[in-house]
Amino acid sequence: MKAPVLTFTDRGIYCPAADVYIDPWKPVERALITHGHADHARGGMGRYLATEGAAPVIRHRLGEIDLETVRYGESRAVGGARFSFHPAGHVPGSAQIRVEVGGEVWVVSGDYKLEHDGISTPFEPVACHTFITECTFGLPVFNWAPPGEVAGDINAWWRANAAEGRFSICGAYSLGKAQRILAALDPLIGPILCHGAIEGTNAVLRGQGIPLPDTIYVTPELDLKSVPGAFVLAPPSALGSTWAGRFRPASTAFASGWMALRGVRRRRSADRGFVMSDHADWAGLNRAIAETGAERVFVTHGYTSVFQRYLAEQGYDAGIVETEFGEDTEDGE
Ligand SMILES: [Zn+2]
Ligand SMILES: [Zn+2]
Repeated sequence: MKAPVLTFTDRGIYCPAADVYIDPWKPVERALITHGHADHARGGMGRYLATEGAAPVIRHRLGEIDLETVRYGESRAVGGARFSFHPAGHVPGSAQIRVEVGGEVWVVSGDYKLEHDGISTPFEPVACHTFITECTFGLPVFNWAPPGEVAGDINAWWRANAAEGRFSICGAYSLGKAQRILAALDPLIGPILCHGAIEGTNAVLRGQGIPLPDTIYVTPELDLKSVPGAFVLAPPSALGSTWAGRFRPASTAFASGWMALRGVRRRRSADRGFVMSDHADWAGLNRAIAETGAERVFVTHGYTSVFQRYLAEQGYDAGIVETEFGEDTEDGE
């Protein structure tokens, strides 16, 4: 029996033919990275390979590392395997990684979504025999509205607050979600303020040519009287903090896929919850899997047991893989 194209180890997803890992969570000599979120791009690897679109954020987060870049679709031979990176539509530069060994093709999805977010290269299905997919939102209850509709809701909320002299404070993860919201905002409504954690990522993405509206970095010196009715973007952890307490009066909101669950909405002490995720919803997961043409699917991160059972009922050879992805973004709670 020939060795599988990829195996699952306690360090991460491993390709024996090339002796490389994909998004490893423990130090290894050679790591292929799907995208810059902290649960996928970790420090301590000997050498890194990622897309040129993901590299600036990875360098911003991890500092001086030995990082080589590839373009989407460019093929690299490593040992007895061939690798290429394909758009995952999750955050700028995010990739699915295609691995081919002796004519057999596996694809590691990383995190992905099918909706266009205005800042990331849109998701492209990649044909394969075996697909390893995330399933963060692998339940039918997760069903995203079209992005334009959510953007309209956010702008309407902001406009109404601004008209009554309130700040609009929105919690969103600093890489991806925050910039996606920025790209969706109507700057004619008023000034847009950003917490330092988000402004740092904005600068990196602007530096690689991703257009974002003008933002004002919130410093202790900033005179809030000069920015009435502003939209204030902050990491979720900053909401309810003394940092957020400066903005008065204010209405608060969260943007997350979890806002689709009423219980989560209630537990979050925000006035509004916008259902917006950087992960695929139920229909998106099913469409992505069908479009790969894969016969075998491994699910990881999220509602794995429900989703695995569902896929098996649909006739897939379906399995569950334990990984250490997730839990670091507000979408991974
Ligand atoms: Zn991610
Ligand atoms: Zn993740």
